[in-house]
This record gives sequence, C-alpha cells and structure tokens, in this order.
Amino acid sequence: MHKNALVLFSGGQDSTTCLALALSRYERVETVAFDYRQRHSVELQARLQVLDQIKRQFPHWAPKLGEDHLLDLAVLGQVSETSLTRDTAFKMESSGLPNTFVPGRNLLFLTLAAALAYRRDLEVIVTGVCETDFSGYPDCRDDSMKAMQLALSLGMDKRFLIDTPLMWIDKAQTWQLAHDLGGQPLIDLIVEHTHTCYLGDREHRHAWGYGCGSCPACALRAAGHARYTAGVALNP
Ligand code: ZN
Repeated sequence: MHKNALVLFSGGQDSTTCLALALSRYERVETVAFDYRQRHSVELQARLQVLDQIKRQFPHWAPKLGEDHLLDLAVLGQVSETSLTRDTAFKMESSGLPNTFVPGRNLLFLTLAAALAYRRDLEVIVTGVCETDFSGYPDCRDDSMKAMQLALSLGMDKRFLIDTPLMWIDKAQTWQLAHDLGGQPLIDLIVEHTHTCYLGDREHRHAWGYGCGSCPACALRAAGHARYTAGVALNP
C-alpha cells in the first residue's frame, strides 16, 4: 500500500486535479514545480494561489499537504528555441507540435522528481500527463511513463510508482473528476486560480477561467468545460 506521493504541480487545471486526487488517495502529499524561466511567471504565481486556496477551503486535505518544492531548471533555456523561454511568438510547427515543445522535457522533470522523492521518502510520483488530448507529446505517452517508472526504479534502487490519473480521460472528464473529488468548490477554485493559457493572459475571464481564449491550451480547456457543463445540465 502506497502512502506518500509527490505531485508534479504546475498550477494548471490538470495538475490541480491530480493534486486533489493525490490528497484524497495518499496520506502525505508534497508538490514540485520547475522554474525554467517561463516567459510567464503567472504559472508559478498561480500554483502558490492554488496551494493556499486548497489549504483554506479543504480543511480535511490541508493536514496532508506537505512541503512545496521549486527546482531551478534554467538550463532548459539552453536547449530550446521555444516561445516559453525566448521572446518568440507561440505557433504550431509542421510536426504538429507547438514550438513550446522541448524534446524530452518531461523525462527530465520525472528524473528530478524521482531524485527528490527518493530524498523525501515518497514512493509515488503523480503527473497529469494525458494521451487523449495531447498525443503529440511523445514524452507524455503511457509507454514513456512505464519505461521511466522502470528506469527510475532500477537506477535509484527504489520501487517508484508513476501514477497518471488523467492518461486516458479527456478534458471534459477531467472537469468531472475534479467535481467528483471536491464538488463545486473545487471547480470554482480551478476556474478562478489555475492557469493554462500559453500566452499568460490573466485579463480575460471566461466561464472556464482566465486566458486569451484562442491558443491551443485555452481552446482545449474551453471545449472541455463546455462539454462538461452540457453533461451536468443533462445529468444534474
Ligand atoms: Zn490562451
């Protein structure tokens, strides 16, 4: 029986839902994020807001929520030419991947998360990767996760479990999962405080939260929310 978990927590909708799931499933939960000089530090601010709001609004989860870690990964800027780290506009490339894609970024995240989990005595690593919506990211695929779980367990001589609760569900089901875990208060928290928009827009408020409304991350979040609310209207 696994008891302690480390959640890769960026402050977005997916990782916030994963955090809620971890808090309902495990006894001690810590969080980690990576600062790779994102153009929009709104992400890093959003995650602190979300942690604070979870502690305030969910007193049964608060005692389980342990230390938050922020690891410096500025080195990623040296191996990428993307709009996340350089001042170039967001666009989709001919490969079908956004130019924000850094090859193998998630493998690096998981390796560092495992090193941290080892030191903090946490055996589960929870990550919001998903094949359903973003199958273009090869380092987020289920096979990649299984291979990493084996490599990290062997390489660190400790049995790690990589828990991927969103792997096979779509964005509408992710909203529904959040509702199942924390009811309307968690939905409201996600809408108000999480950040997903690639352009870092916190000016425009929609039913599904803040964002430019047109980048792929906003489009995905908005479409999922629309299907989720339509489902709620059908099955109140
Ligand atoms: Zn956007």
